[in-house]
Amino acid sequence: MQIKGLTVIREFDPWNSPLCTCPHKFTLNPYTGCAHGCLYCYARSYIKDFDHPRPKKDLIGRLIKDLRKLPEGLLISMSESSDPYTPPEKVLRITREAIKQVLNHGMRLLIVTKSDLVTRDTDLLKDAPASVSITITTLSDSLAKKIEPGAPSPTRRLQAIKELSQEGIPVTVRVDPIIPELNDSSEELIELIDAVAEAGAQQITTSTYKARWDSLKRLGNAFPELREKLYRMYVNEGIKVGGYFYLQAKRRLNYIMMVREEAMKKGLAFATCREGFPQLHTPGIYCDGSTYSYLRKTLYSSRQSKLVKEP
Ligand code: SF4
Repeated sequence: MQIKGLTVIREFDPWNSPLCTCPHKFTLNPYTGCAHGCLYCYARSYIKDFDHPRPKKDLIGRLIKDLRKLPEGLLISMSESSDPYTPPEKVLRITREAIKQVLNHGMRLLIVTKSDLVTRDTDLLKDAPASVSITITTLSDSLAKKIEPGAPSPTRRLQAIKELSQEGIPVTVRVDPIIPELNDSSEELIELIDAVAEAGAQQITTSTYKARWDSLKRLGNAFPELREKLYRMYVNEGIKVGGYFYLQAKRRLNYIMMVREEAMKKGLAFATCREGFPQLHTPGIYCDGSTYSYLRKTLYSSRQSKLVKEP
């Protein structure tokens, strides 16, 4: 779909990944940059001064103009290359205003975040064609502090899953990325999946760490004892896909099957992200967690038409 003149909404670009299974969607990043500081972040090397998030200039005015150019019912993912609930949002409330606009224009919404601040906007999301994707890579608050130093702790994120689910907002949990020797223990992954299932999540989407030189360097600096092993597994023995170093397929499959088995045991939908194993996904489920926004859109549209028909 070619729509000219958009300035803040963009058609989703999977950055040349041949393995992306995302549905067609648009993206909106209210902020440029992100302060969560994840060592493995894929966006940090692309954007100048990434660690100092700032809102896009005149975001809301430009968003309204963009929305007027788009047909209703499209999926808007917020965000793909920054966190919409990066710390300044607590005060600035730009994301909150953007959510109102997106939903008022009849769009479907997928929120992608690592922050429990999303619960502040439950009032906007609960009766809307919206779903939330929350990333949790480990249940260990101390490990998370090392690999995602600026993000809220896993304990807070679990609490957010609980609160959103209790309000009927569908939550997908991204167990992503799984990094060898850091958060790949089967016992801990199983414990993590059990905890998010208990909290009310509906879907798990998992993915292994895909290395780029800058993120490998950050991980090697933070965990010098792992540096050599990570370089060997990724650079020497791994494979290159779409500009990233991947682990060997057999190793990735082992991780994925482990997570999948536990997710299925708990009755959760399952998908992977850019792994090349779409046959392992729950049928009819989108990897990004946006399936639920389709279902809710249908639900609200039928409720509305029923209301219109009633005398
Ligand atoms: S939350 Fe996302 S965008 Fe922000 S630093 Fe972490 S991986 Fe990058």
